[in-house]
Amino acid sequence: MSNISMSRPTRPFVRPQIGSISLAVFGAIYLITFTNRTFFTRAYGYFDSHLALAAFALGLTCLFAAFTIAVSVKYLLKPVLILMIFSAASASWFMDSFGTVIDVDMIRNAAQTTPSEAGHLVTPTYLLHMTIFGLIPALLVCMLRVEHRNFLSKVRWNLTAIIPLVLVALACGVSSARSIASVTRLHKDLILTLNPFLPIGSAVAFTLASEADRNIVARPLGTDAKLTASPSSGKPRVLVIVTGETARAENFSLGGYGRETNPELGKRDITYFSQTSSCGTATAVSVPCMFSNLTRHGYSHRAALANENLLDVFGHAGIRTEWWDNNTGSKAVADRTSYRSFSDANDPRYCKDHECLDDGMVAELDQWLSNVTTDSVLVLHQLGSHGPAYYQRYTPEFERFTPECMTGELGICDRQAVVNTYDNSILYTDHILASVIDILKARQDKIAPSMIYMSDHGESLGENGLYLHGAPYIIAPSQQTHVPFVLWQGSEMKASVDASCLSKRAHGEASHDNLFHTALGIMAVKTSVYKPDLDVLAACRKTQGSANS
Ligand SMILES: [Zn+2]
Repeated sequence: MSNISMSRPTRPFVRPQIGSISLAVFGAIYLITFTNRTFFTRAYGYFDSHLALAAFALGLTCLFAAFTIAVSVKYLLKPVLILMIFSAASASWFMDSFGTVIDVDMIRNAAQTTPSEAGHLVTPTYLLHMTIFGLIPALLVCMLRVEHRNFLSKVRWNLTAIIPLVLVALACGVSSARSIASVTRLHKDLILTLNPFLPIGSAVAFTLASEADRNIVARPLGTDAKLTASPSSGKPRVLVIVTGETARAENFSLGGYGRETNPELGKRDITYFSQTSSCGTATAVSVPCMFSNLTRHGYSHRAALANENLLDVFGHAGIRTEWWDNNTGSKAVADRTSYRSFSDANDPRYCKDHECLDDGMVAELDQWLSNVTTDSVLVLHQLGSHGPAYYQRYTPEFERFTPECMTGELGICDRQAVVNTYDNSILYTDHILASVIDILKARQDKIAPSMIYMSDHGESLGENGLYLHGAPYIIAPSQQTHVPFVLWQGSEMKASVDASCLSKRAHGEASHDNLFHTALGIMAVKTSVYKPDLDVLAACRKTQGSANS
């Protein structure tokens, strides 16, 4: 007799059974209860009346359940629930840990990020969170055997459940209409944190928009552009535009920060525009916006794609342009410009896993300048202070503020350690900018140089529980929108500007809207798309309008 025939027959695993409506209701209750901590914490703070808050919560739960019951159809219910569970689990982690809102711009930012950048966010705690709130509930849903009625009976039973739920939701809404209307109007961030509908809705909107964006061809801009004047010396004008990353004005000692974070720039002859606001709160918005002539109010992702930008206008004027990238790409700004990626090159002297220190670009600058014979514009898109792994953004000599936060998991570090680490990354950017200035200055015998530095957006470092950036502009704190803007001009370019006028202008308001026109002004490009009132130097030029009027 074989062993097999002797063994006791094993009972087959019996999958627990559940009715489709019951599973739909349990799913809805799970999602609203376990993945909406940020939403309800904020709601608790915003509602004056606990009764109104209770009505709001009950109404929402009824609507959640009505939705899941509506999709409780065979072959649909489980995939929909699993998608909602994973989306809600992931979104709730970022909302609860960093205060992040998952809107269309945030999805676009995530889609354009590099694997190494994204890798900093996939921490052990994130994986644990995903296991507890995503994987385990999803496996439970998979394991259940769902009883479905026949079609007509299902329609009847589902409607019998959905109609009262919607009526209860309506009654809750009507009973507290005034409170709910005033809270949602005053606190637009609240509804943006509702899981998982907002993240899924944003992902769908992003996918549809990306499909439509695919065939957009940029309309020509400033095709009438031409150079109006050379410097009296006849040397080629060279403008280096250093763009971003994630530096906030609040932590620049040039703007009054209590710590010395700009020891090197402070010793250079620069102009610091202390009241500068960004166009967006994320790279994917700010970078295309600042190189466009759309202004913050006229900017949209599609409009930027549909129109040429500053670099194209320079091209029309016969100026050589080049984009060096140590970030996540030019966001289509350099689509028609000579482009070089430093992170793709992955030079082991500066890079690890395609993440590179900005020194790599600076090291090549002098060589590049030695080949300049005509008017040229070079953009350096730096990695700057990109979070959350601030500790990887600088070399050991910039470990001046300690203790540091040596992880991307900012929530487990002391807040002061997060600020220390971020400030060290600002020190490093200070060094990068001063180095660019020194290299340009040393070449003044051959070129007439200038440098503009503008950060693309700021960063939250735990103020009001917020970290990182990307908050919708309407609710974004100043830490994310108040950015540093530095101008340096070589002796020849500086001589054409009234110094006291410029120093007064530097205390006034400035923004990303100024980059397009200020850069055209510096390069003496005459074009119908140039607006002198948006050029921060226009009113201070000694030879008024000689270049651009
Ligand atoms: Zn950025």
